[in-house]
Amino acid sequence: MPILRVALPVPLRQHFDYQMETDENISVSIGSRVLVPFGKRQLVGVVWQIDPSDSFTDAVLKPITQLLDPVPVLGPMLRDLLSFAADYYHHPLGDVLTSALPALLREGRLLNNEKQKLLQLTAEGQSCSDILFKRSAKQLALWLQLKQTAFTETVAVSEFSRATMQQLIDKGIAELISQPFTPFEYLPEKQKPLPLNPAQALSVTAVVQALGRFERFLLEGVTGSGKTEVYLQAIQPVLAKGQQVLVLVPEIGLTPQTLARFEKRFAVPMLTWHSNMTDHERLRCWQRSQSGDAAIVIGTRSALFLPFRNLGLLIIDEEHDQSLKQQDGFRYHARDLAVKRASLEQCPILLGSATPSLESLYNVQQQKFIHLQLPERATSQQVPKIELLDLKQQVLKNGLADGTLAQIRQTLKRGQQVMLFLNRRGFAPALICHECGWLTECLHCSAFTTYHKQSRQLICHHCAATRPVPHQCGNCGSTQLAPVGQGTEQLEEQLGRLIPEFPITRLDRDSTRRKGSLEAHLETIHSGTPQLIIGTQMLAKGHHFPAVSLVVVVDVDGALYSSDFRASEQLAQLLTQVSGRAGRGDVAGKVLLQTHYPGHPLLQDVIQNGYHSFARSALLERQQTRLPPYQYMAMFRAEALDSAVCEQWLALLQQHTALLAQQAPLQWLGPVKAPLEKKAGKFRWQLQLFSPDRKALHQLLAALMQLIQSSALSRKVKWQLDVDPLDL
Ligand code: ADP
Ligand code: ZN
Ligand code: ZN
Repeated sequence: MPILRVALPVPLRQHFDYQMETDENISVSIGSRVLVPFGKRQLVGVVWQIDPSDSFTDAVLKPITQLLDPVPVLGPMLRDLLSFAADYYHHPLGDVLTSALPALLREGRLLNNEKQKLLQLTAEGQSCSDILFKRSAKQLALWLQLKQTAFTETVAVSEFSRATMQQLIDKGIAELISQPFTPFEYLPEKQKPLPLNPAQALSVTAVVQALGRFERFLLEGVTGSGKTEVYLQAIQPVLAKGQQVLVLVPEIGLTPQTLARFEKRFAVPMLTWHSNMTDHERLRCWQRSQSGDAAIVIGTRSALFLPFRNLGLLIIDEEHDQSLKQQDGFRYHARDLAVKRASLEQCPILLGSATPSLESLYNVQQQKFIHLQLPERATSQQVPKIELLDLKQQVLKNGLADGTLAQIRQTLKRGQQVMLFLNRRGFAPALICHECGWLTECLHCSAFTTYHKQSRQLICHHCAATRPVPHQCGNCGSTQLAPVGQGTEQLEEQLGRLIPEFPITRLDRDSTRRKGSLEAHLETIHSGTPQLIIGTQMLAKGHHFPAVSLVVVVDVDGALYSSDFRASEQLAQLLTQVSGRAGRGDVAGKVLLQTHYPGHPLLQDVIQNGYHSFARSALLERQQTRLPPYQYMAMFRAEALDSAVCEQWLALLQQHTALLAQQAPLQWLGPVKAPLEKKAGKFRWQLQLFSPDRKALHQLLAALMQLIQSSALSRKVKWQLDVDPLDL
């Protein structure tokens, strides 16, 4: 009787052994799911080893309840990837599996009932004459198509209509048959590729020459330089070879134009993968990837774990984007795991960005990544001019200088659009008492609560606690409460009063919460009518707004002096990305930055020399200060109702680190209070660990994990380990 070592979705760092009753007369494979008893429950797990050499043969093992997959759901490549991820992030494999498998598979859904419906002609349909369709051009067209090839129900419905399809079925001319998904068939592109400029051509050639082996590319191209065209033309030969392509993007809802360009170009099955899918849609996408039917998948972070049958190319667009890193639970970075996946699949990976992460630029310096550059915009459009507007000694009207307002008015009057960028949603970051200076604070966090005027609420943006706006000061009882600072909601209200002649569209998390509202807002903007567009971070991501010719960054000062060593990188990325939104149509664009520090070296560097130059000096600085990417970093976070317990627990880890540091190159910082000291009623502390030697750091982490498991104090805190942390 074989012994099965099973990975289970439990937060324990071990596998569990079960027995397989051989008389079931079916063979079991590694990577198949099994249903097993676990305590009083039944759990779905994945067979990770069969007859492991270190199993106790004389132990009495429980038998599995049921074998769920005759064919493994996880092939060897994905299992390697997941094992690697579990080791690298020191995270329980069972939990890693949970991230990688669609919910329905985790729940034990059997796979064989997932089929595609194929529309094909019946025998009668093959031999009938076109006289039958004399009165319906649509039916004739569908019939002629079907005479050449059968195609899926989805295609039939989208290219013709459900009614037309049904009419042919009712006449007995066509029929729907169920078929398992099969590898896609390559069809030539529907739309001609653009003639490439020399820089684009070099990039495409480099990637295409690397097909079939593992190679890493960083495509650094200013916004509008034609990166997407490079992706499209690098993809085409992969499809022609019958191989699949995965394109990872930070957020899908925000880039409908990019999707549309892919759809217009290629005639092969293309799927998207994102957080707004139903469980069933996810399972289907998973299966179509596994069967080879999905030629291109464009998806967010977790699409990385789709089981491609034959992956030929991996692309990550906006590779610098922070949302590629999962920020809770299994805290993986999709870019880093994607590189690992490409090495397992033996295929090239192409990372693209106008503002590459310092990590990737460092990898270029280390000659791990091949640098491809698109230094100019692909069309004759000018790169927008960036102007600094000194706010010192200016009278501000609602946060805007007179000069800014004048330029906004002029631009609108010329019939163009203006975009205002303010990275704070709500009406105001807090309410202040005019008499005593008391500020509205969250009751559960060490943070102020944002005043939302439209919903008449104070909302904490850290723990989401919501309460009605108070009438009186909590300290002195005065009723003189006034908003301090400015959020997007306030800017909208004030500009509505100052410039009533033009409509305003606001894009932030509040204004796009309702389903469909983002699309509606984007549509208004794309209509091209002169208007003000006000928004947060959301605006910076990948949009193509041709009618915008002026971008105003209302407030950059907050980010200039931050304690987070990544803040300058992020600000430089944001400014460059936001300015890339200006002048993408026929008119030249301009960007206005309002600041009290026009002489700040970061601003000067980004504006005068561009992001790439900034990045070089930023890398130098990281080298001098011995920070990532020049050192490897990991961080333990602890939270508890009792602040002292957090500190004690982290001190335990720190002492052990100090001990090991006698033999290995290890440094640490902490334990210190987290920047947000208290969140949702719990106190938060952290311990940062550094080493120039990746192996030394990982040995330390492994040792600390053992210590944590054996320490009783560990049960008194909620803790997590973050390897290569991004938010500090
Ligand atoms: P990016 O992805 O780098 O921001 P895009 O791929 O969106 O840039 O290209 C910007 C614009 O330039 C698009 O309108 C695109 O159609 C156009 N474009 C790209 N490559 C070429 C080319 N080789 N010739 C002409 N136009 C191009
Ligand atoms: Zn709070
Ligand atoms: Zn007061």
